[in-house]
Amino acid sequence: MYQHRATKTKAGLAAIAFLLITLVPMWGTLHAWLDQENVLVEKAAGSDAMNLAVAFDVHVQSVVRFVDTLTQDLREHAVKDRSDFGRIVKEELVLYGNMVAQVALISPEGMLVYSSLAPAFGAVDLSGRDHFRAHRDNPSKDKLFISKPVFGRVSGIWSIQFTRPIIEGDKFSGVVVVSIPTSFFSDFYKKINVGANGLIALVGMDRVPRAVASKDSGAINFGELLLLKSAPYFVKEALPEGLYRGVSAFDGSESLTAYRRLEDAGLVVLVQLSPEDYLMSSGKRHRVLIFCASAVTILLLSFALLIYATVWQHLKDAKALKQAHKTLRELVNVDILTGALSRSHFLEVLEKEFRDSESCGTKLSLILIDIDYFKQVNDTYGHPIGDIFLKQVVAVCCAELRAHDSFGRLGGEEFGVILPCTDGASALGVAEKLRLAIESSKISTSKGLVRVTVSMGVAFALPSGDTPSKLVVRADDALYCAKQAGRNRVCSARGNDDASQVTTMSTNDS
Ligand code: GH3
Ligand code: MG
Ligand code: MG
Repeated sequence: MYQHRATKTKAGLAAIAFLLITLVPMWGTLHAWLDQENVLVEKAAGSDAMNLAVAFDVHVQSVVRFVDTLTQDLREHAVKDRSDFGRIVKEELVLYGNMVAQVALISPEGMLVYSSLAPAFGAVDLSGRDHFRAHRDNPSKDKLFISKPVFGRVSGIWSIQFTRPIIEGDKFSGVVVVSIPTSFFSDFYKKINVGANGLIALVGMDRVPRAVASKDSGAINFGELLLLKSAPYFVKEALPEGLYRGVSAFDGSESLTAYRRLEDAGLVVLVQLSPEDYLMSSGKRHRVLIFCASAVTILLLSFALLIYATVWQHLKDAKALKQAHKTLRELVNVDILTGALSRSHFLEVLEKEFRDSESCGTKLSLILIDIDYFKQVNDTYGHPIGDIFLKQVVAVCCAELRAHDSFGRLGGEEFGVILPCTDGASALGVAEKLRLAIESSKISTSKGLVRVTVSMGVAFALPSGDTPSKLVVRADDALYCAKQAGRNRVCSARGNDDASQVTTMSTNDS
């Protein structure tokens, strides 16, 4: 169960690693690219807005200069010959009628004394107008005054008043007024494309707009419009021109605004672009790219799933293969009939124990066992009973041995015992114990209780010049001696590789 979970975890990690390697760079690059493109688009929009603001500035300045010239010209005529003033105005209006809504004269008391719109007007008191008060209160200051948009009582339209005082001698003797409709500016600006949500405006430093061209500008009531929100262009100390991204003073929307201040006229020109407009086309492109990246992500997720399934299957197969190897190894190492070590593995263990005893300086002994007259057993009781005897010998011996002793089947009815940390004398003792145990264990057959005996050869590793094969040869020689001496007995090699020097240690001739 645990291994199953570990396999799944490994497969999951492979799939996650694949996703991290592919998705993180892909989305990271896409994100950086989109950001970079937004920066470039924003930069281009800023430069567009600034260029428009420059053109707008030039236009406003030339209009102001022109209207001021006209105002001064008319004032001259008003001073020179007031009776001929109406004719002069008519002549001027023939030329500039499309931009001038009205020319008027105001008496020193603030009463309208002339209007190009309604020569036969009743008493109109204009003494409350800002421009009149500004000139009346500063008679010595001959300066062009540009008013807030006012709704003309005579003209009936919103217009900006360009006024100059009339000074005769040192005496303030009225005001000359040239009214330019706010639409003169806004109609012109409307022709410039600033996007669906953009705006072009001419605003006074008094925060009152003079002209606005935007999608909502048709509904503007200049009498109520006062820009309360702070903006950099209203700060006198700020640079006279600039570009800023922030909240619009007009509608509170997030926008990109280029401005230029006309210090003398007390006006600011504004070009306000909406990110909604200038990011629209790149936004569409971004959405397509994000859609494509999402489709690729889904594809990669499917791949990751495939990787998970493949890796999981592979790990499962590898584990099964490992298990099969282990089983195979066990089959090779273990004798199938008796469960004792196989001959090849027994010899491997002997090699290892031999090396260990050499390096640790411990004793090592080997016993070879051969069942006596086993052919007769087979012949008398049958092969299956012979097999039972083989298993019985193994079981009896293993029950007598220590955990670190090794017991193997070397062939047919021959066995071997490796006894680590055991000298020759002790090994003989062990061998005798095994011989007695085998002799006393009986098997029930159809012909009654039967027992077998074994002959054994014991040898121990010599302190120098010895090898595992020499040890085996000495033990085999000792076994041969046991057989020769009458079987059912234990013989010991004398302690060198001379095969003839074998001692019979115990016998049972019964
Ligand atoms: P000795 O006392 O000289 O060893 O005589 P022996 O008959 O035991 O020796 P021999 O080598 O003549 O016979 C060995 C017999 O072991 C012959 C064979 O049939 C038998 N044998 C070998 N392997 C197996 C086995 O796996 N099962 C059974 N039942 N018998 C086996
Ligand atoms: Mg034999
Ligand atoms: Mg035998």
